[in-house]
Amino acid sequence: MFVDFCRVSRSQTPKHILLQCPLYKDLRKQFWERLDKNEVQVGTDYDTIVSHPQATRYVAKFVQQTGLLQQFRCIELEEDDEPQGLAAMELGVEDDGY
Ligand SMILES: [Zn+2]
Repeated sequence: MFVDFCRVSRSQTPKHILLQCPLYKDLRKQFWERLDKNEVQVGTDYDTIVSHPQATRYVAKFVQQTGLLQQFRCIELEEDDEPQGLAAMELGVEDDGY
């Protein structure tokens, strides 16, 4: 009987986890679907993916779902920050209608 586990789990690298690891097959599928939906064309090259500004946000999501943040510390992942310019812009609008 086969047990579905990752044979190289002792040396999980970000590249392996994102592109190869059988343990994250389902999450990876979602990841590709997100890229596809948003027409982010990065191919399957790891370096291309992690250096693509739009793709990295989906990588961040993927990483979050795997719970393997430690392995991905070497990559700079930008979290979705709240827009900071907007509040400042709204302050500049004065109500001088009357
Ligand atoms: Zn693995």
